[in-house]
Amino acid sequence: MNKNQKQTELIATWDTLQRIFIRPEDEASRETLLKYMEQILFGLHDFLNSHVGVTEEISLKELTRDFKDTQINKDPEKKLADVIIDIIEKIAPKAVNVASPYFVGHMTSALPFFMVHLKTIITALNQNVNKLETSKVLSVIEKQILAKIHRLVFNKEENFYQTHVQSTDTSLGAFTTGGTTANLTALWVARNKLFLPYQDFDGIENEGIAKTMQTFSLDRIVVLVQERAHFSLKKAGGILGIGNKNIIPVSVDSKHRIDLNDLKKTIKELSKDKKTKIAAVVGIAGTTETGMIDPLCEMAQICKENSIFFHVDAAWGGPVLLSEKYSHLLKGIEKADSITIDCHKQFYMPMTSGMIYFKDPLSMDQIAYHSNYVNRPGSVDIGIKTLEGSREANSLILDSSLKIMGSRGYALMIDHSIKTTKEFAKEIKSRKIFQLISDPELNIVTYRIAPIDLISKLNKASKNQKEHIENLINDINIKVQRKQREQGKSFVSRTRFKLSKHDEIESVVLRCVIMNPMTNIDILKEILDEQEDIFSRLAS
Ligand SMILES: *Cc1c(COP(=O)(O)O)cnc(C)c1O
Repeated sequence: MNKNQKQTELIATWDTLQRIFIRPEDEASRETLLKYMEQILFGLHDFLNSHVGVTEEISLKELTRDFKDTQINKDPEKKLADVIIDIIEKIAPKAVNVASPYFVGHMTSALPFFMVHLKTIITALNQNVNKLETSKVLSVIEKQILAKIHRLVFNKEENFYQTHVQSTDTSLGAFTTGGTTANLTALWVARNKLFLPYQDFDGIENEGIAKTMQTFSLDRIVVLVQERAHFSLKKAGGILGIGNKNIIPVSVDSKHRIDLNDLKKTIKELSKDKKTKIAAVVGIAGTTETGMIDPLCEMAQICKENSIFFHVDAAWGGPVLLSEKYSHLLKGIEKADSITIDCHKQFYMPMTSGMIYFKDPLSMDQIAYHSNYVNRPGSVDIGIKTLEGSREANSLILDSSLKIMGSRGYALMIDHSIKTTKEFAKEIKSRKIFQLISDPELNIVTYRIAPIDLISKLNKASKNQKEHIENLINDINIKVQRKQREQGKSFVSRTRFKLSKHDEIESVVLRCVIMNPMTNIDILKEILDEQEDIFSRLAS
């Protein structure tokens, strides 16, 4: 191709636009697309292993070097095929291979390969389930799958589901962009239920926070949740005008679950204060840091006695309900008023998708909005009661995936994760330099490197010395975690919290989330070996 030819081709004209809108511009680009798409569609895991993943540490400075141009080109810079080649050869290698079985640090992991196909079809159809006019049957499917999961959680009678599955007046829940917006939706409903229209007062949603507080002579609205709650709940406090300071932390017991005595005590104290209203209590089914499940039955009972809205954040743990072996761990979840479950975590769906459920099919009326060009009053659209406006038809992915794998297929993955995590915890306990911090209930485990000589010193230390030694141990864990990440083979994450109520300082702990079905105990042992190795080099 000579220079002139290239220049004329890279000009945006009506002709070139029409071509690019409809199909690949020529045979060469078609071949490029087919080559990569075939690898992605039929050999996803090999593709990811060979093309994706930072293998050595790149500093942020270096990473950002090529991404500082802020001008938009008037004419095309590249042909489609060249853009695709760039993405796969230059960008993907600098992304993170979250699908690696050695990547056990976060809640983002490998996908079953067919998810890519399903997502591609959803993108191709480009339905907008905000309204029936732009989605038709996809809105109907969304309602059906919402009823299926609602049934999995709340297990109401057949009659209930026949009434509501396709009812246009009621909602069992909604798909959201993720756990954050699901939690926000739950607390939004809880807040509004507390301040319904009454005489001249038109409800908090219409009147706003200031008028509400004035009308009811209040100082604050609060939400109670254990101290290790996901920070999305604090965001919700901010957005809803409650104030994130009023998302009140309740302490945890030695097993990292909400301390029921502290919960009862806090409710009692707050209830005495006539200027405070409790909008909700939140239980967590699978905390983000340690994967623990709050005592949901007891919490539900406390909420019932005090007439408080009970939300369960099961963003992580929700899909465990599919496991015959472990679903009992979530007992009491069916007593919740609302439940968050993420699709892009243990439902193994692509980024991003979550769900919110309500026990009462009228709950979402509290957040219904209408507009004149879509979702007119009397509209049957799901979109009138969702936080998000336009939404993609992610329900079809969940529906299809459940058809492809069955609840048993999911259960196999979940059971494998939990079993592997328990084996891993045993292995950690058996190695002298490690200290198990949270004995796993689900598939998240925390531990730390705690060399015996330092631990024995710690036990005899004075308060001042204690702090010094704890800092030393923290430092070791930070360095080992960082070095392992930099070496590029394995990844575990780290977090910090107080190991017990009486501790003064927070301890750094290593955190593993085991959800990739390809991760097994041998791989996990290798990860520990590597950490031991890094530590011994560090020590010498
Ligand atoms: C991940 C998570 C969230 C937030 O969900 P996003 O999908 O990241 O918005 C909330 N709560 C818990 C317990 C989580 O694990």
